Amino acid sequence: MEHTKAPEQVAPVLERAMAVQDSPRVIVLTGAGISAESGIPTFRGEEGYWTVGSTNYRPETLATREAFGKFPDEIWRWYLYRRSVCSQAEPNVAHRALVDLEARLGDAFSLVTQNVDGLHRLAGSKRAFSIHGDIGLMRFESEYPKVHPIPAEVPMIWERDTPMTDLAMAALTSSTGELARPHVLWFDESYDDALFHMTDAMNAAKNASLLVVIGTSANTTLPLIIGSIIAERRVPMIVINRDENAFSDYVEEESAGVFLKGKAGELLPAVCDAIAARFIERCGV
Ligand code: NAD
Repeated sequence: MEHTKAPEQVAPVLERAMAVQDSPRVIVLTGAGISAESGIPTFRGEEGYWTVGSTNYRPETLATREAFGKFPDEIWRWYLYRRSVCSQAEPNVAHRALVDLEARLGDAFSLVTQNVDGLHRLAGSKRAFSIHGDIGLMRFESEYPKVHPIPAEVPMIWERDTPMTDLAMAALTSSTGELARPHVLWFDESYDDALFHMTDAMNAAKNASLLVVIGTSANTTLPLIIGSIIAERRVPMIVINRDENAFSDYVEEESAGVFLKGKAGELLPAVCDAIAARFIERCGV
């Protein structure tokens, strides 16, 4: 598909990225913002809030192991509602642009996503590390690191105000009485390799000659570690976001690349085309 041209500030960033001695490699880091145009709310909007009893919780409080320990049925209900929203969403042009870029770059491409919605996978991304899990999966903590699909007995469509049911709780419980948990990384937990690809994601940053960051508020640990690996190595960045974030501040303060303020769906396809064209020129593939 013909896309509009990438903004002109992108070309000098690509020149720097392609000027490396070894073969250039691109790492793309995505957050909830890339799926906003597919209709999945980010954490920052009103939709992020959830009421338990009479208390209004922010996602940072609710998306924790501690909250799951206190009110597992409410946490499950919140995740089943969010899974339901994700199940009705389709990948958008930004997800698809990354699939096309991967097809053109091959092994020189890697994608690290904080998203749990599965839309990159559904779009066709292959070289992708889901560093915060997948909302369609669950796991029993005693079986670490095994994960399972959420059983078919649990309804896929779950309205925001639907209470938890005994039937769904039973389907989420093992024959030994252990309640499964959503397969996501909670705010009070640590990254690892077996479930969350920590080393793979860091290695992608260590080998990259360009970082493209899309749709994140930059408030989680591994994305910030990736940013600091890239910054230490003086690798250029292209930041696409609706609002300023730590990556855009860094890029602007240190002249370390370009910040394109706006929507992923409007900006990313042309940026991917420009990256692919410059990459093919440089590597002749
Ligand atoms: P976030 O909600 O904290 O931030 C989203 C960012 O995207 C904001 O900076 C916002 O300005 C930007 N944004 C919104 N719409 C955009 C658009 N159309 N184009 C470009 N940018 C846009 O999300 P986060 O930084 O990913 O991190 C918080 C945590 O939230 C992560 O752990 C993630 O797993 C979880 N989360 C995931 C989903 C999902 O899987 N779709 C949805 C909500 C939250």
